[in-house]
Amino acid sequence: MLHPTLEVLPNPESRSTEEREKLLVDPGFGRVFTDHMAVAIWTRGQGWHSAALTARKPFVLDPAAGVLHYAQEIFEGMKAYRAQHGAINLFRPEQNARRFNASARRMAMPEISEEMFLEAVETLVRADRDWIPDGEGSLYLRPFMFASEAFLGVRPAEEFTFCVIASPAGAYFKGGKSAVSLWVSDHLNRAGPGGTGAAKCGGNYAASLAAQAEAYEQGCDQVVFLDAVEHRWVDELGGMNLFFVFDDGRVATPPLEGTILPGITRASIIELLRRRGVEVNEESYAIDQWQADARSGRLSEAFACGTAAVVTAVGRVKGRSGDWTIGNGDGGTFTAAIRNELIGIQRGLVEGPDGWVRQVRR
Ligand SMILES: *Cc1c(COP(=O)(O)O)cnc(C)c1O
Repeated sequence: MLHPTLEVLPNPESRSTEEREKLLVDPGFGRVFTDHMAVAIWTRGQGWHSAALTARKPFVLDPAAGVLHYAQEIFEGMKAYRAQHGAINLFRPEQNARRFNASARRMAMPEISEEMFLEAVETLVRADRDWIPDGEGSLYLRPFMFASEAFLGVRPAEEFTFCVIASPAGAYFKGGKSAVSLWVSDHLNRAGPGGTGAAKCGGNYAASLAAQAEAYEQGCDQVVFLDAVEHRWVDELGGMNLFFVFDDGRVATPPLEGTILPGITRASIIELLRRRGVEVNEESYAIDQWQADARSGRLSEAFACGTAAVVTAVGRVKGRSGDWTIGNGDGGTFTAAIRNELIGIQRGLVEGPDGWVRQVRR
């Protein structure tokens, strides 16, 4: 696939060192943005063109732009980490490029070459490298694509905008919580068979928000979604995959059958554990079994995983049929160890499997 060269137009109004450092003291998550963005346009007949790195600025969007009406939109989430000796690491970014294209196919959107995706991401990271926080933080990268054609008929758009923005991030869950609590959504579904659950599209998140609001009302941090047919099998959270750790050393995670998002963190954890000889089963897990196993102590730990929060212990689960605590409710050593190993690999402190870390060249 041919791709246009990316024109680099530095932002003449980039913020001063002083301003930037002030913003980097406590960036939170998704609130602070860097000085640049990468963009490209696709039009039917012409393909991808007008690729550029420019000053970060609002889009000019026609009120009839397809994305505003029919939600033809996909995104990715990845991070750039500060490693030793001034290096900048990306973690398996080609996996994000591949998943982006898988999402594009499901949403009837044009694909983008892996090279163009990576060039856009890396050029943005290079331009805004000073925005990568020190220490625990990282630069969250958000590639996305949306229907920008002005047309109200229902069909795939004939113009799309691809963009990458960057946001310095501290901890994802505020307050340095050691474990999150989950609300079991037993009537609101995130995804169903044949739907878009496996695509990283904004629509899945829109569908999850009412359930997330319920979780807050119930005093919980996150929602756990069940399968849409039987409301029995555990799928995933609104934006994170789930793992279960049993007292006999086995680990389980729900299988990829089209309704859950194939997380890169999920795949990486499975691979790391299997390399170490841990038995990891990708198998369906029933919500009542989860409750029974937590009560009996057969389940020793449970954790959620995704790029933004890496690995987060699940301490408590609450549903209409009761609530239960996992272990002592604070997470355990297995969860802490896999979290530390992943963070170590991402930052170049621990050696991971070949090719997992890609350094951004200056
Ligand atoms: C992005 C996402 C994940 C996690 O994927 P990672 O590649 O590990 O960041 C899990 N579930 C949903 C619904 C997601 O959108």
